[in-house]
Amino acid sequence: MSNKSASKYFLVAFVPSVLVILVIAYFVHQNTKKSILESTINYKNEILNLKTEYVQDFYLQRLEDLFLISNLENLKKLGTDSEISESVQHDFITVAQATNYYQVRWLDTTGQEQLRIDFKDQKTEVIPREKLQNKAKRDYFKSAQELELNAIYSSPVDLNMEFGKIESPLEPVIRLIKPTYTDQGIKTGFLVLNIRMGSFLNKLKGIKTSEDPFDFSLLNQTGHWLTSTAGKPTFGFMIDSLKDKGFANNYPEEWKVIQSKQMGSLLTDKGLFVYRRFCPEEVIETFNGTHNTNLSSAKCNDLYFVGRLPDEVLHARLNSHRPIVAIVGLAFILMVLSVVITISKLKEQRSAKHLILINRQLTAKEKILETRNAQLESFVRVASHDLREPLGTIKGVATTLESDLANEDNKIKRGVTFIKNCAIRMDNLTKAILEYARTGKNSVLGRIDCMDLVQSIENDLLESIRATNTTINYRRLPEIIGFEAELRQLFQNIISNAIRYKKPDIDPVIDIVYENGEQHIFHITDNGIGIDKSHHLHIFKLFNRASTIEDGLGIGLGMAKKIVELHEGEIWLTSKLNDGSTFSFTLSKHLGVDTEVSFT
Ligand code: ADP
Repeated sequence: MSNKSASKYFLVAFVPSVLVILVIAYFVHQNTKKSILESTINYKNEILNLKTEYVQDFYLQRLEDLFLISNLENLKKLGTDSEISESVQHDFITVAQATNYYQVRWLDTTGQEQLRIDFKDQKTEVIPREKLQNKAKRDYFKSAQELELNAIYSSPVDLNMEFGKIESPLEPVIRLIKPTYTDQGIKTGFLVLNIRMGSFLNKLKGIKTSEDPFDFSLLNQTGHWLTSTAGKPTFGFMIDSLKDKGFANNYPEEWKVIQSKQMGSLLTDKGLFVYRRFCPEEVIETFNGTHNTNLSSAKCNDLYFVGRLPDEVLHARLNSHRPIVAIVGLAFILMVLSVVITISKLKEQRSAKHLILINRQLTAKEKILETRNAQLESFVRVASHDLREPLGTIKGVATTLESDLANEDNKIKRGVTFIKNCAIRMDNLTKAILEYARTGKNSVLGRIDCMDLVQSIENDLLESIRATNTTINYRRLPEIIGFEAELRQLFQNIISNAIRYKKPDIDPVIDIVYENGEQHIFHITDNGIGIDKSHHLHIFKLFNRASTIEDGLGIGLGMAKKIVELHEGEIWLTSKLNDGSTFSFTLSKHLGVDTEVSFT
């Protein structure tokens, strides 16, 4: 297989296959990425589900406690006599110890704390009357005041405050509040449970399955962290220096989307976000369902569960299969390559066999050609020698008869002269044919200096050059490899034609120009009578003539063509009638040994 056809075969077979494989690999890669992304989102959603369930249980249990305490018989009578107050106080202590609630309180309708049990460091403290505070100005009390008798208020998660200041160490709490009322349905005050959230939030943070590089955030309605596995600042909404350091500030675009939907996932340049909104107050419905109660809630203090997989982790995960896709793709490419190579080898073998066959046929044809050439040669020999003998006799007899009839001027003498001229022309033709047939036979390749060659032709043609006042221009003709006698003949035929077919009254000017291309190229231009286009095709065939103004045999250009072909070249003509002619021919540079062209 030649280099050209091998590369063509490669382009046709291999390149499209590789392209197809690359496209398939690309789609496999994209699909795998998609399914990894989907399974990551599903997995993260499961984690968020677990966390939500945990929060739900937490609220449900606290709700049960609130409901239980609010049903204490004595609670309804609070504010009526001091003994009852003591008994409720006792109940509150029991509740606080049992539940680990931070505070169990009863506030009257003006917001004044009337009963308050604090439970800290496993110790219950009954807050004395003089330390009881009025909470009328706190948001949670304002919200509580608007409650229907059977409604419950659950405050947003925030930090506990005492006497207008955030309690230190920070104590995240929620408050569950339920109005208390008499049997007659008159509101007497509010049962308030302050529930610690610190350890709950820590546990919530800790819920995860296996190795999980997922940042979990619990956010409040203002987009501030309540807890975060990534160590983000929490409760920023209550601390001036942290107010603008919330999730909503860090991820403003993402926060907008998260707020606008119940749940979903979001892929941005900051990573993969999986999120859901949870309204703690909705557990009241569940509670009503299981306890046959008719409690209601004021409003939702939504919590946002957000999981974030950082972009770099996600990227690494999505591209973890890349090497596999690359290996499979490579394996495919190698497979295709081996198929291509095998096919090309088979083709090579087939073409090698084909080549042997062609060579055999060529050898057979060469033999036939040799035989035919030999036959032709012997015919030419017969034609030249054997025909020229009787021609010589005719020429001799005609010449003798002509001299005998020297003084005559009649038909017979003219006939004898005509016979003599015909015999001479026929003799010349026979000689020329023999010469034509012998051209190239037994010639030996040699190094020829074309400058010398043209110069010696000039000498040979000196007589006609002088007679016609011909100028021959040439310079920088190369040294080439060729058959000397034949090349001399070639140049001479064309130059002598250029002189012979000159325009009357115009001195011939002949330009010989060399062009150094892949082959040697020569252009020989004259200013003679030119040749009509109709003759261009046939002029190089034997015995073809375009003009009768000069005597000729019509062999010179046929000979030139044969010599050019002997040098593996081509000959052609550029000419117009009355406008000079240019004979151009090429000669191979690779005859015999390759030789550098040098200029004389
Ligand atoms: P011959 O010159 O013997 O007739 P050639 O084979 O040399 O045979 O040329 C064939 C014909 O080509 C010539 O008869 C002539 O008509 C035409 N010819 C050749 N060379 C030229 C030329 N330089 N200018 C014009 N005609 C030419």
